[in-house]
Amino acid sequence: MPRLSDRVGKFTDSVIRRMTRISDAKEGSINLSQGFPDFDPPKELLDRLSEVAYEGPHQYSVTFGAENFRQALAVKAGKALKRVIDPEKEIVVTCGGTEAMIAAMMTICNPGDKVMVFSPFYENYGADAILSGAEPIYIPLVPPSYTFDISLIEEGFRSGAKAIIVCNPSNPCGKVFSEEELTQIGNLALKYDAFVVTDEVYEHLVYEPYHHIAAASLPGMFDHTITCNSLSKTYSITGWRLGYLIGPENVIENAKKVHDFLTVGAAAPLQEAAVAGLTLPDSYYEDLKKMYTEKRDYFLKGLDEIGLKHNVPQGSYFVLVDIQDFLDLPQFNGWSDLEFCEWMVQNIGVAAVPGSSFFRENVNNLIRLHFARSKETLKEALSRLAKLKDLLA
Ligand code: GLN
Repeated sequence: MPRLSDRVGKFTDSVIRRMTRISDAKEGSINLSQGFPDFDPPKELLDRLSEVAYEGPHQYSVTFGAENFRQALAVKAGKALKRVIDPEKEIVVTCGGTEAMIAAMMTICNPGDKVMVFSPFYENYGADAILSGAEPIYIPLVPPSYTFDISLIEEGFRSGAKAIIVCNPSNPCGKVFSEEELTQIGNLALKYDAFVVTDEVYEHLVYEPYHHIAAASLPGMFDHTITCNSLSKTYSITGWRLGYLIGPENVIENAKKVHDFLTVGAAAPLQEAAVAGLTLPDSYYEDLKKMYTEKRDYFLKGLDEIGLKHNVPQGSYFVLVDIQDFLDLPQFNGWSDLEFCEWMVQNIGVAAVPGSSFFRENVNNLIRLHFARSKETLKEALSRLAKLKDLLA
């Protein structure tokens, strides 16, 4: 057998997506591992999708995104970025936020470049760094408040880090970065002439009193920020794989080339249909936030009633639950969080993601659950999780 890529040997498949497969293989399991909704996208998108089936387009769009999609995106994203976005020169439409992030990394990194990543982090960033030849430097987000030490970031930039990846709101810990925190990070990126690469796919899932601020909207930051985002969570269309990069013209010029050779383009009919989402009124985003706030409050209250310890997410649809009390029981002695999650699927009927897949540090006592589910499903999941507590009785 000829030798395969050493780079690919350095990372595993995604544990998040593996947990979905494990959950799907167990009949009746409730999948609270990989985050995606079990409810429909807005009707406007579905109606438009059915029209597009007959009207087209069914052939390639412009490689960096269909013109009308980019125009609608420029208007929509321009609000968060507090800027007029040039749809020709400052946007690349990608196959999901996943491609946006790897394309951003491949656009800016040379082999051996250092990139700072907060820990805990969304697992894609580890593979993205390896695939783009970069070397990650991990900056701890320290629980329970998930704050960070800015001097470590300065040290990283001083040692030559090319960029810092900021997932805001943060997956998996639900942190929403404050204006002050983003300004501190941004000032260092400016001082050391480096980039901030953001992942803002949960920008609309932010709970009061917190508010999402786009790093690129801060004074002087647009030219130093590559904003990665997606329509997946905002319009409940994770399977449509529509994402985008926004950045300064010189960066986007190169990102267009990376994207062209990676995937050529995102699905043309889906871009056409999704324009109906991008042009929805502001009330749509308010309603979305209200719906997720209710889900979060309901789910966290349920966890409290059961007596499961958890963090309180400021944004995103994830919650980290502490399983240490269970791991201390004789029947789970020496188990990893992954083994515990596999056991949960089979014996509790709820799938979670082991926390260790997000942390650089040796963390084995957390599991991640998401609450992008109908209230009935969340109710059933909670009643199953309550069985866990019986183990401690
Ligand atoms: N962001 C989602 C999660 O962490 C999954 C996204 C994906 O699988 N592409 O669960």
